[in-house]
Amino acid sequence: MSRRKFLGWIGAAGIGSTVGKSALASGNKHFEGYPGSFGVLHDISRCVGCRSCEAACNKVNDLPVPDKAFTDISVLDEKRRTTSKAYTVVNRYDVAGKKEPVFRKNQCNHCLEPACASVCFVRAFKKTPTGAVTYDPNVCVGCRYCMIACPFEIPAYEYNKALEPRVMKCTMCYPRISKGQLPGCVEACPVEALTFGKREDLLMIARERIRKYPDRYINHIYGETEMGGTNWLYISGVAFSDIGMREDLGVTPAPELTSGALAAVPVVAGLWPVLLMGIYAISKRKESISQQEIEDAVRAVSDKADSELAQALAKARKEQEAAVRKEVRKALEEAARSRDKEDI
Ligand code: SF4
Ligand code: SF4
Ligand code: SF4
Repeated sequence: MSRRKFLGWIGAAGIGSTVGKSALASGNKHFEGYPGSFGVLHDISRCVGCRSCEAACNKVNDLPVPDKAFTDISVLDEKRRTTSKAYTVVNRYDVAGKKEPVFRKNQCNHCLEPACASVCFVRAFKKTPTGAVTYDPNVCVGCRYCMIACPFEIPAYEYNKALEPRVMKCTMCYPRISKGQLPGCVEACPVEALTFGKREDLLMIARERIRKYPDRYINHIYGETEMGGTNWLYISGVAFSDIGMREDLGVTPAPELTSGALAAVPVVAGLWPVLLMGIYAISKRKESISQQEIEDAVRAVSDKADSELAQALAKARKEQEAAVRKEVRKALEEAARSRDKEDI
C-alpha cells in the first residue's frame, strides 16, 4: 500500500473511538465537518476509466455481479448513475479541445451536512465522525425522501426487492475504515487516482498539486465548498461542468437551504402522514408490514409533527411559504410517480 493512497493511516487507528459517537447532521448549521474526518481525493486527471474501483466496490459490499463484466468498457458508451446494485460508476466524457477522453468516478460525496440525513425523520441516514454518511435499514420506513433531497442524485432504492427494500449508496466503506482498512475502491485503483486520508490533508495535497502543475489542473477543488463541503473531493484538468458535475449548487449546506422548506415538510401535519401512508401503500413493503406498524409509524410522525408544527410553520410561512408548497408538491409528485411505477 502506498503512502499516497492512504494518508492519515496512523490517524485511522483512532477511528474506533469515534465511530460509535455518530451524530446527526440534522440541525447542525454551518457545520464544518468533524475534525480529523476522512475522505477521498479523486484526481480525475489520473483516472484511466479501468473500472477496477467498480469491481472492488461490488466485491467488498457483496453487491451482485453485473450482466456485463467489469472489464467490458463498452458500458462507458452511455452515462450511468449509481444504482442499488452499483454504489459507484465511472463515466467517460469527450471534452472539447481534449484529445483524450476524461473519466470520472461517481458515488456518494459524503456531504459535511448531508441533505439525505437532514430530511430523514427516522434518522436512518447519519453523518459519522469518520466523515462517512451511513444508513440503517432497520429504522428506514422506505419513504425515499432522501432520494429527492440529495443534490447529487445518489441514493438508490431497491425497487425490485419484495421484502424490506433498502435505500442503497456508498458508505465510504464505513465497516472497512472503522477497522483501519482502505475503502475498497481506493485499494483497487491501479493508478492512484483515489487517495484516502484526512480531509484537511487531502485539501492540502490537492492545493499542492494544483500549485505545482498549473497546466495540468484547473484551480478548483470540487467539494471544498460545494453544498457546504463534502468529504469526497475532486481535482481535474477540465471544467467540472464539462464532466457532468453540478456547478450551480453554491456553498450553502443543503439543510440550511431547506430549513424552512424541506424541514417543514414532515411537520405539515395534514399532509405528511397522508403522504407517508400513500407511499407505504404503494410500496412492496406492504407485504411485510402489518397494519399496526403502519399506524404506529404514522402516529409517531403525527405526534412529532404536532409538537413542531407551530414553530416550524411560523418560520416557514414568513420566509418560505412558496418553497414549502413547492417541496410538498415535489414529494407528492414523487409519490405519484412511484405509485405509477408500481402499477406497471
Ligand atoms: S451526496 Fe447525497 S446521499 Fe451522499 S451524503 Fe450528500 S446528500 Fe447524502
Ligand atoms: S468507498 Fe466503498 S462503498 Fe464507496 S464507492 Fe468506494 S468501495 Fe464503494
Ligand atoms: S480504478 Fe482508478 S483509474 Fe480505474 S476507473 Fe476507478 S478511479 Fe479511475
